[in-house]
Amino acid sequence: MDLGIKGKWALVCAASKGLGKGCASALVREGANVVITARGIEALEATAAELRALKGGEVRVVAGDITTEAGRAAALAACPQVDILVNNAGGPPPGDFRNWDRDAWIAALDANMLAPIALMKATVDAMAERGFGRIVNITSGAVKAPIDILGLSNGARSGLTGFVAGLARSPLAAKGVTINNLLPGAFDTDRLRVTFQGASAKTGRSVEDLAAQRAGTIPLRRFGNPVEFGAVCAFMCSMHAAYLTGQNILLDGGAYPGTY
Ligand code: NAD
Repeated sequence: MDLGIKGKWALVCAASKGLGKGCASALVREGANVVITARGIEALEATAAELRALKGGEVRVVAGDITTEAGRAAALAACPQVDILVNNAGGPPPGDFRNWDRDAWIAALDANMLAPIALMKATVDAMAERGFGRIVNITSGAVKAPIDILGLSNGARSGLTGFVAGLARSPLAAKGVTINNLLPGAFDTDRLRVTFQGASAKTGRSVEDLAAQRAGTIPLRRFGNPVEFGAVCAFMCSMHAAYLTGQNILLDGGAYPGTY
């Protein structure tokens, strides 16, 4: 299926690894030009080399922290225009809410709510003028099924989800700008590996044991991979997804136990 996004410009945030990289890779394969960002230039350049080898769209890199104004300004400046925006950043640390002070909350809100909102603010009106825009916010399955130790994530991402529900239904919708959230369940990335390492250090159980136990709770009996995540993201950014907006698309191998 031709996704119809050849030559479009995509800004994919936090994309040197994991889910962001999966999205950037799928978009490049479709012939979209991408600007990828991450804090460390080394991993970013290595990913850019992989993406360029796909011989799809152009690939540009911007090193910087997307949770800061300077990081966002640099990312936007590298993109001739933003037709597609994939919002992403690292997730907040787990913990006990009794230990989180105001600074911890502000950091979580900055990364997982305010940064994506700032990037949408900077791009949606020009998208609407051109009559085409696709925004995908990478959030988390925790928005639908909260995990107690991830309270910072549950709270900040729920704020973004509520905001997006309104913005997606604003007059932007009639001008061809769609805004959706893509909710990962458990995906095999560094983030998941670090979580298991932390749990292993606490419990004395091996990482393999913990991973196998978690995978066993998922109907597909395995973790997702970033390529599968990128494929769904690219479809959501395609011409064919023009009637999809304001939705929370859960990609979790069936882990969420509800009917709706
Ligand atoms: P990852 O650790 O594999 O990759 C994160 C990427 O983001 C890296 O390229 C890193 O350099 C970049 N990054 C982090 N903070 C940044 C910042 N402030 N500015 C710029 N770049 C930054 O993580 P992942 O698994 O791909 O997760 C992506 C997002 O999805 C995270 O918010 C995570 O919490 C969320 N999530 C992941 C899973 C999962 O199972 N992997 C599940 C639910 C939610």
